[in-house]
Amino acid sequence: MQMYNPEVLGVSLRHIQNRQERRVCEVMTAELADDEDFCGCTLCIEDVYACAMSRLRAHYLHRVSIVLKRPPPNDLEIREEVCAAIEVVRLRPNHASVT
Ligand SMILES: [Zn+2]
Repeated sequence: MQMYNPEVLGVSLRHIQNRQERRVCEVMTAELADDEDFCGCTLCIEDVYACAMSRLRAHYLHRVSIVLKRPPPNDLEIREEVCAAIEVVRLRPNHASVT
């Protein structure tokens, strides 16, 4: 899959990232580290990430910060959504179950 490079009128927007991307990765790493029941294949990890990111409201950061009225999700919200996503994928993985 080719990476999407956002660009408008020649201005690259690659450096503007959704702050939740890094935080979700950190929480997933911590939550899945000791989870021996979780499949852990590439597809399942991608699904947890996509599910958690879809559940969380986006919060984009820019070097010259703009003030957003809505606060970003806090650590507890991120952890709750990542754990919920893990359970969704654990119960209904997108691949045939391995026995
Ligand atoms: Zn899997």
